[in-house]
Amino acid sequence: MKIEVKEPEVKEMFDCAVFYHGHLCPAMPLGLRAGVLAMKKLGVSRSQDKELMLLAETAEGHAMACFLDGVMMATGCTYGKGNCKKLRYGKLAFTLIDRKGKKKVRVAVKGDFVLNALKSSPFIAKRKQGIPPQDVERELAEAAVNKVLSLPLEEVFEVSEVEPFEETPKKGTFEAYKCERCGEAVYSKWVRVKNGKFYCIPCSEKV
Ligand SMILES: [Zn+2]
Ligand SMILES: [Zn+2]
Repeated sequence: MKIEVKEPEVKEMFDCAVFYHGHLCPAMPLGLRAGVLAMKKLGVSRSQDKELMLLAETAEGHAMACFLDGVMMATGCTYGKGNCKKLRYGKLAFTLIDRKGKKKVRVAVKGDFVLNALKSSPFIAKRKQGIPPQDVERELAEAAVNKVLSLPLEEVFEVSEVEPFEETPKKGTFEAYKCERCGEAVYSKWVRVKNGKFYCIPCSEKV
């Protein structure tokens, strides 16, 4: 067996996404498809800086964590850049915001799809036995991935209408101070002042 990726946008980043995610599983590719779907609906391309913003309804548990890696990969909304926030609602859903275009869309994996997968997926059955995703037989993982990659989008996802989005602009800072105690640089917003001297947060608690 081999992985068949039909959507060109998903195909382009698939290998890179598996490398980034660390193992082959069905939830990450599900996130890739969901991310691409949301971007198409908004008519935007991948976020180079913070043009897009992701509000993920996922938490830390199985499937949700993997799903979010796929969405981050597809949309370019990442933890590091700070344009990805977790709401921890325990759902396979997210809102993607186009900050320039001032609009947003919400994508959710359909409830029945999730419940059916939990009940009947051979891959998930292995995971329930405590087998780590990278140790599940390659055949089973590939079959699960092929399934989520080939199902029609409307069978898997619920997509909201595009709605307006408003935010008050915030300015980033390029200013930093040197901590009096450890000598490391701290960006100004996070500097603490004690007795007229500048400290980083951990050091400020020790002086
Ligand atoms: Zn995974
Ligand atoms: Zn310090």
